Amino acid sequence: FVIPDFQDFIKDIEEMYWTAKSNTDGKVASYIPQLARASSDNWGVSVCTIDGQRFNIGDVTVPFTLQSCSKPLTYAMALETLGPEQVHKYVGTEPSGRNFNELVLDYNMKPHNPMINAGAILICSLLKSLDKPEMTLAEKFDYVMSFFSRLAGNEVLGFNNAVFLSEREAADRNYALGFYMREYKCYPEKTNLRECMDFYFQCCSMEANCDIMSIMAATLANGGICPITDEKVLRPDSVRNVLSLMHSCGMYDYSGQFAFKVGLPAKSGVSGAMLIVVPNVMGICTWSPPLDPLGNSCRGLQFCEELIERFNFHKYDNI
Ligand code: GLN
Repeated sequence: FVIPDFQDFIKDIEEMYWTAKSNTDGKVASYIPQLARASSDNWGVSVCTIDGQRFNIGDVTVPFTLQSCSKPLTYAMALETLGPEQVHKYVGTEPSGRNFNELVLDYNMKPHNPMINAGAILICSLLKSLDKPEMTLAEKFDYVMSFFSRLAGNEVLGFNNAVFLSEREAADRNYALGFYMREYKCYPEKTNLRECMDFYFQCCSMEANCDIMSIMAATLANGGICPITDEKVLRPDSVRNVLSLMHSCGMYDYSGQFAFKVGLPAKSGVSGAMLIVVPNVMGICTWSPPLDPLGNSCRGLQFCEELIERFNFHKYDNI
């Protein structure tokens, strides 16, 4: 086993879970009512190693919407189907140094990276217009759902229609980004912007729980092979690219500090979820809705920092 004494390891995870549970910092996202209603008490941690050892504690089966945690996944899909060269003709690989939804493009007038809203909207347009353009929006939705599900060992994902409808209503900034990129001809030629935006909101509104998301993280930790089904879902080069950008851009405008302190590829979302990858060891998902001012889950961050204090998982430990 990659973690020989799993029982011992779990004791640490449990202690860290309970320490973070008493943290009452942060505020639940409030830009749509469905997220504003989330309970601040929810707190779950799931671990899945690359050889399939699992551990769950807390609210690990309560569903939440993926929100920005869908960004590395749609990016992975785009890499897998279109290849990195094609994808990066349209979107950069540089941290933006700004908030995730800021109205800003890089000096090539491309979105900075696929982990912020502009980049993720652009990735949706690539999936919609370049990869199998003959597919309808409905077929594309199924295709993405089943791809995400394969990453998660064939667990079934949900879709929260109320969140989708609210996202679409409360999306002035996302539309602004969408039109701004159209003005600068960022999209592939045949892009239908309305469909592309809907597709983006749908990806954000897909639902899973900690238990399921830890398997996705473990697939990324395992070079693209799902440890539960042994299916090769992603090529190693796609995984490398996804993890590189999670490492440099995955935690909003805290990404640099997170890379310094924690040194692991991770991605957070406004629902309070966090995907954390310990390459060649395991995937972790934490979920707790209260967010800090930059939009990262307070308990999730605390958990990660403590993980690195207790274990040498930081990329540059032991050099
Ligand atoms: N639905 C959110 C948005 O587009 C997702 C962003 C996030 O999770 N940070 O604004």
